[in-house]
Amino acid sequence: MMMTIKQKSEVPTQANPCRTLERAIQTWQLLGERAEPGIVLAHVAQAIQWNQPVLVPVCPPEEMLEQLNADIVKVGEPLENSGSMSLRVNMLNGEAPDACQFPVFTSREAMENGPAASSMELPLQTVVKMVLDGDNCEGIILNPFGQALFLPRQMLEPLSYVRPSSRIYLMEADITKVGADAIVNAANRTLLGGGGVDGAIHRAAGPDLLAECRGLHGCSTGEAKVTGAYRLNADCIVHTVGPIYSGSPEDAKLLEQCYKNSMDAAWECNCQTVAFPSISTGAYGYPIDKAAKIALRTVRNWLWEHPDTFMDVYFCCFSKADLMEYQNAIIQLPDVPPDVRWTNKGVDASEKEDYKTAVRYFKRAAARGDSVALSNLGICYNLGHGITRDREEARKCWVKAAVQGDVVSICQLGDFWITESLENRTDLSKAIEEAWVFYRTAYDLCQAGINREDYPNVCLRYLRYGEGRLSRRELAHLAGEAVAGFQKRLEEGDPFAEKALEEAKEYCRRYCET
Ligand code: ADP
Repeated sequence: MMMTIKQKSEVPTQANPCRTLERAIQTWQLLGERAEPGIVLAHVAQAIQWNQPVLVPVCPPEEMLEQLNADIVKVGEPLENSGSMSLRVNMLNGEAPDACQFPVFTSREAMENGPAASSMELPLQTVVKMVLDGDNCEGIILNPFGQALFLPRQMLEPLSYVRPSSRIYLMEADITKVGADAIVNAANRTLLGGGGVDGAIHRAAGPDLLAECRGLHGCSTGEAKVTGAYRLNADCIVHTVGPIYSGSPEDAKLLEQCYKNSMDAAWECNCQTVAFPSISTGAYGYPIDKAAKIALRTVRNWLWEHPDTFMDVYFCCFSKADLMEYQNAIIQLPDVPPDVRWTNKGVDASEKEDYKTAVRYFKRAAARGDSVALSNLGICYNLGHGITRDREEARKCWVKAAVQGDVVSICQLGDFWITESLENRTDLSKAIEEAWVFYRTAYDLCQAGINREDYPNVCLRYLRYGEGRLSRRELAHLAGEAVAGFQKRLEEGDPFAEKALEEAKEYCRRYCET
């Protein structure tokens, strides 16, 4: 399968400009197959918007091969597209017959996991355009020789304009294996290395790190100092010194300073991903439940105070037990952000059918990127509730929420294709096919444990359009799940559950009774 590059690429030559994206992929891979793809998608959006260059495998045409000096250019080396000759992209086979997928690599190393091939750099926006303009290209496959990430073509346009927003991720991971622009080290005041995570970071970074640290002349408790990352896959290491736990109120203040100063330092270095260990909770004896609360609260406040900054934060817990402490702490954080308060007020108002008030609150929260508010604002636009009906605005809201992993919005985007087709009398089966891609994404997110509460809505979509795609047994199972889910919601007082429950019961009658 081939696709010809028509455009000449104009790409700045810079050491792997896609490194933030590549690191996000590395972290996603480290977390395993079931990890939330959202950890990568926001960085894909950023890479497209910044039009970063990526590597694309190409086969040079015969006439070019003849001109190449075999002693200089070897197979596997990047080629320059002179513009006078057209190179052809080595496409991969798609799922459907005659369809293809566009392979894209974030670096030479990512490409070297597969068979040797020539490659060239292309700006990501050019790749996206080629996929969208091609008739038979299903999407982009990112780093196909490994744990590949498939980006269906329907997702590419939304990713081109959605604004990525900062998120906190909790993970059980060795911080030296995580890919992040900044890796935070829980150092001691000498900055000359030590045990625990400090020792692990020095070992992984190599001896040059110690040499640089010597020049820093130590660091006081609560402060942060930056060095190069050397052999770690990062732009920099932020060394911070946590307090030795004494039980005095001063401890919490100093620990808070560590997180705040580290965030500031990473921000000043233009980092978009930061990985933290659990500072002070090892040799320095800080009780992890208390430390986790301070860590999460401080970082979350920092992110709220920098609403225009996109920075993903990874909390790397060294054991399952530590991770559980962080998970407990994150749900216990008492104060919700202002946007969530606005969203809740909006939901309350819309339940009372006071849509004008609802829209006002949803708009405020949506402006700060709150995905639930965006999802609801989309519904208001779509139905003309409290605002002039505008389907395109509705779609834009859902797209913004969908890339944050909002399952309801992903379903709505699927529904959008079908409604459009019904209104414009276009090929309905084709529209359902497009919609199915969204429903499947939503289903996969639910299966991965993200957004379980929206699962009944996803089941309903599968039931509506699953005939011919799913077995009768699968449909019967989904119908049972949907009924149980909506029943529970109805009991919890959700006024929108009643109609959905009726529909789910109808499917139950159709598929569960033999
Ligand atoms: P401190 O002196 O600040 O207490 P430690 O290194 O002793 O620092 O411990 C801090 C935390 O880092 C502990 O929770 C420990 O389990 C954890 N830790 C140790 N090694 C690693 C590693 N390679 N990756 C992530 N966390 C680690």
